[in-house]
Amino acid sequence: MENEVYMITDWLDQNGNPKIEEQTQKEALCLEFERYLQSIGGLKSAWYTDKVPIISRNICSCGDGWLPMIQNLIQELIDAGWNKEISQIKEKFGSLRFYIGGGSDEMYTIIGKYEHKSLEICEECGEPGELVISNRWWQTKCDKHKPEGSFSQKEFNKKFNIE
Ligand SMILES: [Zn+2]
Repeated sequence: MENEVYMITDWLDQNGNPKIEEQTQKEALCLEFERYLQSIGGLKSAWYTDKVPIISRNICSCGDGWLPMIQNLIQELIDAGWNKEISQIKEKFGSLRFYIGGGSDEMYTIIGKYEHKSLEICEECGEPGELVISNRWWQTKCDKHKPEGSFSQKEFNKKFNIE
């Protein structure tokens, strides 16, 4: 197990122990997420039947700040009986999109809850954030990670007189 972890990350020392103190918070988030995926035996591709388990953080096309939230989502789905078949995990219009191979109404309700929740979590760092627009690009960011000149949905609505 430790050897496999070593192969997928550069964040362990030669004894297989995390070098977290030398690493940034983002790398720690990635490490934690990949260790979680490893602990559940990985996710499965909904597209291919005989692929290796997915244990890389790169399955998520979004910022590292959302990884802890995605981990909670995965666990809730597994508890609801999910077969771990994943099509795509990504950011779109500032919120999380999580596409599974198939599932129950309960599972889609859980996913909807987290897609909504993602609009309040900075995609960059995981701190509380809000939906802002910058150069026609919607993203959910905290005050620290908001692009310069971006503005919130509220300010956007005010600017264009949308109720
Ligand atoms: Zn942030």
